[in-house]
Amino acid sequence: MLIPTYELEIFTPPCDPGAERFSAVAHLPADIHDALPYLNATLRGAVYTEPAHSLTWKKAGHNVAFHTDRIAVSNVEDREAAIAELDGLVKLVNHTWERRSEITPDHTTHQRPTAMAVYKLLPGTNCRLCSQLTCWNFALKLVAAQVELATCPPLGEPTCAERRASLEALLVPMPAIGLRDEGRRHD
Ligand code: SF4
Repeated sequence: MLIPTYELEIFTPPCDPGAERFSAVAHLPADIHDALPYLNATLRGAVYTEPAHSLTWKKAGHNVAFHTDRIAVSNVEDREAAIAELDGLVKLVNHTWERRSEITPDHTTHQRPTAMAVYKLLPGTNCRLCSQLTCWNFALKLVAAQVELATCPPLGEPTCAERRASLEALLVPMPAIGLRDEGRRHD
């Protein structure tokens, strides 16, 4: 296991001292530098900066940053939420590292697609079949990796095949990664 444990740090963002949400860091006992290109190859919307040995990613309202010796996550509600998020991220790194023989590492820096670029390719009918109020809301959630393309039923119609193909090309694929309960933490 690449990351068997970590030390937890929780703090109020220095730029927002009165904030009611927190940032948290998992300080790692191992160097995860070699795992970053594999994460870059599998996490949709991740931005890898090889010279800095860092990879940033947006995950369901959280900004996540992977560095060689730590993993940081923003916008957590409390200590328990911070632990849950960091445990999940540690599992993600461990599982990706275990599967590295199946993954082609990606050393390039991708540009995140903009919500507008995604929106322009959606059907634009605001039909709400995806449970979002508008296609624009869906586009915002899509670039933040909070929804999947498959949850827009009209994109599955033959008449939308071209749109769907363009969207798939725009969004870096994110293979499903089954996580096992293998992370541990230090409080
Ligand atoms: S299901 Fe698709 S077309 Fe309908 S509102 Fe959602 S994104 Fe737009």
